[in-house]
Amino acid sequence: MNKPADRSLTLIGAGLAGALLATLLARKGWQVDVFEKRGDPRQQGYAGGRSINLALAERGRHALRQADADEAVMRQAVMMRGRMVHSREGQVQLQRYGRDDSEVIWSIHRGDLNITLLDLAEQAGARLHFHRRLDQVDFERRLAHFTDEQNGGAHLVEFQSLVGADGAGSSLRAAMLRERDLGERTEFLDHSYKELEIPPDAEGEFQIEPNALHIWPRGHYMCIALPNDEKTFTVTLFLPNAGEPSFASVTTPAQARALFERDFADAIPLIPALEQDWQRNPVGLLATLYLDSWHIDERAVLLGDAAHAMVPFHGQGMNCAFEDCVALAEHLQRTPDRAAAFAAFERERQPNAAAIQAMALENYVEMRDKVDDADFLLQRALERT
Ligand code: FAD
Repeated sequence: MNKPADRSLTLIGAGLAGALLATLLARKGWQVDVFEKRGDPRQQGYAGGRSINLALAERGRHALRQADADEAVMRQAVMMRGRMVHSREGQVQLQRYGRDDSEVIWSIHRGDLNITLLDLAEQAGARLHFHRRLDQVDFERRLAHFTDEQNGGAHLVEFQSLVGADGAGSSLRAAMLRERDLGERTEFLDHSYKELEIPPDAEGEFQIEPNALHIWPRGHYMCIALPNDEKTFTVTLFLPNAGEPSFASVTTPAQARALFERDFADAIPLIPALEQDWQRNPVGLLATLYLDSWHIDERAVLLGDAAHAMVPFHGQGMNCAFEDCVALAEHLQRTPDRAAAFAAFERERQPNAAAIQAMALENYVEMRDKVDDADFLLQRALERT
């Protein structure tokens, strides 16, 4: 076991935030080791788990630019200039996000994005260790315990500071909670989601308008679809967990087809494998995670979903995680006292994350219930003028 170097950091999780933070710090001369429980997606394909694609906004792009990652990422992005609202009767209407194409968001494939960021992290000098799942932390002796996900082997790693970029179910957070009360609170949403796919048409082209985020708002529930650069769309159905319709009442593929025939009729011809997708893809839970504290002195700090997971309705979880990465790298660079750097990072980012979490919850009501409400849209238009 080698002693950690002075400017060394041990990152847990090589997902979106972990890979970006590793790039930012390694470029500034830090010795960065990243431990990821999954295998290398560049060798064995990307093992998903969360949404297949994501909306990337200017906040996230700004952070990517700090790591010179924006250009590589944007090669795979599809522009979305507004919401394309599908009414029950099958009419469609584009509601632009801004006045012109300078105010747009982008759809990006999670796997492609993660691979691009891992390549950049490695090029910058970060060391990536795959199949390493963090299990426990001995904070007193500064030893992290990992298990090899392939052969079950145990590995001990000495650390100066641990950075938890290991997502909503963070193992580092669990280890920190065993050490001290961080004021953790998780509020589950009473709605969940399931993903389906719109494949390309017979000519290999997009079946519907590619440069839009499609929404089928239906009051208490909705479908959305985001484009992928291989000319598919990922459709996400959001339904309540109980009542009618819900993931409790719509369980079989036949019930799913009946729901689509009734409520999303214009989407049915676009999703030829509806039954198979329904059967294959799990129902995903949605929650907001609140923590009073994100760090333990200079020994551990959390960021991204590990610190502040949120519901996806503002499309800002990753964007916010990317902003965390820039802020943490800047504080570490500016303040040699790590405990002070972690505290300053937390002070800066906590109010921002809390505001975005609240907006994400509010936006669910807007997306599923208001985007086809004429009075609401008129008011929004007047607000913009
Ligand atoms: P993650 O991306 O979850 O990465 C965590 C990494 O840590 C993973 O690689 C994981 O394998 C690894 N890991 C976990 N446990 C361990 C362990 N014990 N040891 C080692 N490694 C471990 N955000 C947006 O900005 N725009 C969107 O449009 C958007 N849409 C979304 C749609 C849905 C349905 C959902 C669920 C989320 C969406 N989000 C969106 C949010 C976004 O997915 C997250 O905010 C983002 O993935 C957070 O990045 P992260 O790096 O913190 O965590």
